[in-house]
Amino acid sequence: MDLNTVLSNILQEEVQYFYTCIRDYDEKRIIDIAMVDDVYTKVFEYDMCDVQKEAVMKTGTALNNLNGTVIFAPSVDKTTLVVLSKKVLPQKDPDEVHGTILHELTHAHDYYDYADFLQISDYNALFESQYYNSFFFWTEFHARRIGYKRFIEYKFRKGWKQFKKHRYEFLEGIKTNFSIYSSKGRLYDLMQAAGRYYTFIELCSSHTENFKGDILEGNVESDLINILNEVYCFLIENSEFKQFVNNIAIFDELLQKIDSMVSE
Ligand SMILES: [Zn+2]
Repeated sequence: MDLNTVLSNILQEEVQYFYTCIRDYDEKRIIDIAMVDDVYTKVFEYDMCDVQKEAVMKTGTALNNLNGTVIFAPSVDKTTLVVLSKKVLPQKDPDEVHGTILHELTHAHDYYDYADFLQISDYNALFESQYYNSFFFWTEFHARRIGYKRFIEYKFRKGWKQFKKHRYEFLEGIKTNFSIYSSKGRLYDLMQAAGRYYTFIELCSSHTENFKGDILEGNVESDLINILNEVYCFLIENSEFKQFVNNIAIFDELLQKIDSMVSE
C-alpha cells in the first residue's frame, strides 16, 4: 500500500471511531476533514473568522510544520476545517497518527461546546470571551488525553501485556516530554503532560497516582510544584467539558495565580 492510501485509511478509521466511541455525530456541526501536503494553502479555501485569519497570517508557512490544526469560520453555522499534514504525519509512528486525528477532532468539538455554552455563534466573540484563555488550556489537556489514549490502545491492540511490560518507558516518556521547553509555553506543556499522565493512570490503575513526584519534581521550579499539582488535581476532577465549564472561573483563578508567581 502506498503512503497516501495508508494515511487515508487511518483517517477514515479514526473518524468512524470518533463518532462511534468518543461522541455522537451532530449534523449541525459541519466539519471538513482534510489531509494535504500544503496546509497553509488549504486553509485559504475556507472562510475564517478574523482572529483565526490573523493567527494564520502570523504563523505563515510554518503552519506546514504542524501535525495538524483546526480552522474556525466566522460563525458556528459555517464549516470548520480539521486539516492534517501529509508531510509531517508520515514521519511519525503510524499508531501515533491515530491519536493525532482524535486530538484535532476533539478540539473542533470542544470549540462548538464552548460556543454553545456561551450561547454565541460568532467565533470572534468566543476568542474574545472572558475565560477563553482557560478554555484554550483545558482543551489542550482534553484533546491530549483522548489522543494519547487512542495511541496507546492502538499500539498495543494485539497484546495488552506488552504495554504492562513497557509501561515505565511510557511514564519516562511523559516526563522527558515535559522536560523539553516547547515554544508554546510552560502551561501548554503542562496541559500535555497532564493529559498524558491522566491516561497513563487510567490505563495502569495499579500505579499510585503521583503527578508531583512522577512529573513535576525535577522539571519545574520548586515554588511552582504545589500550584501546578493543584492544576492537575483540577483537571482530573474536571476532565469532561460539562464539569469543566461549571468550574471555569476556578481554573482561571489558578492560571492567573501562576501567571503572577512567574512574573514576580
Ligand atoms: Zn492540541
